[in-house]
Amino acid sequence: MTAAEAEGDERAVEAALRPRSLDEVVGQARVRDQLGLVLEAARMRGRSPDHVLLSGPPGLGKTTLAMIIAHEMTAPLRLTSGPAITHAGDLAAILSGMNEGEVLFVDEIHRMSRPAEEMLYMAMEDFRVDVVIGKGPGATAIPLEIPPFTLVGATTRAGLLPGPLRDRFGFTAHLEYYEPHELDRIVHRSAGLLGVELRPDGSSEIASRSRGTPRIANRLLRRVRDFAQVRADGVVTLDVARAALDLYEVDELGLDRLDRAVLDALCRRFGGGPVGVSTLAVAVGEERETVEEVAEPFLVRNGFLARTPRGRIATRAAWHHLGLAAPAAVAD
Ligand code: ADP
Repeated sequence: MTAAEAEGDERAVEAALRPRSLDEVVGQARVRDQLGLVLEAARMRGRSPDHVLLSGPPGLGKTTLAMIIAHEMTAPLRLTSGPAITHAGDLAAILSGMNEGEVLFVDEIHRMSRPAEEMLYMAMEDFRVDVVIGKGPGATAIPLEIPPFTLVGATTRAGLLPGPLRDRFGFTAHLEYYEPHELDRIVHRSAGLLGVELRPDGSSEIASRSRGTPRIANRLLRRVRDFAQVRADGVVTLDVARAALDLYEVDELGLDRLDRAVLDALCRRFGGGPVGVSTLAVAVGEERETVEEVAEPFLVRNGFLARTPRGRIATRAAWHHLGLAAPAAVAD
């Protein structure tokens, strides 16, 4: 199998594990309740639901919820992403092909180009866009009607969205990291679907090392399953889970290689900070966005790293986790 085939295979497994209805969604109780109400009300009125904005770190269920919205409204779903919309024309092409009631999912909506964003304001509010033909003084704007649709936008950071765009969403939900007992349920559910034999303590070990993230829980389950098949008798016990996760360098608190690299650079190279996030990203050889949107939210939430106006600083817990003595001035 080539690397691309393996990746396609992983994606197919991920798709198979997605909950298909709100009832199947584990955790996020408040979002589920609120969204359920929005959808129910829209169904009763026979209208498209309001536009929905979902924010939160990667892997917490934004795409899953978009699919569920379409499924519960028995509406078709169209998927695109901010980086794929580089010109207003790209968006006009998508919008002009929409059917009534369709759900348009725009992942990473904060990365859409500015002109496209402005076109989207009008489309969201008036179900109309102005398509500009030509350039300079001879340019003309041709108004184009769009059938009512529901936009579901996903962003890792709602704060990056311009106010006018944020204001046009009728319902905004912020997804939080999951609690270990919720991840435990997700791991059990996935194991059932994948036909993996799982002991309760094996499952809770995977859950507690999953960085509060369902996508990671499912991925770790698959890696532990590989280990169980090859190195044990196929059953995921506590010992098997521990040995497999150690092999994959996921530590007992769920920090992965990138998380540890960030803390390591922060403590060892920059004396615990404060240091700018761009400098930190260069030090670990990653994009700034990856450090900011993937590693940091988890490290901040778990009290390892603090964002201050002067830059990032390591907490005492970070020094401790790396097995280093913290300088006396470090705050808890
Ligand atoms: P995002 O779009 O936020 O990056 P996804 O919706 O792609 O995240 O979710 C990643 C994976 O995690 C999906 O394959 C799905 O199986 C699983 N998942 C996410 N949220 C939940 C949930 N609340 N309950 C069960 N599984 C979930």
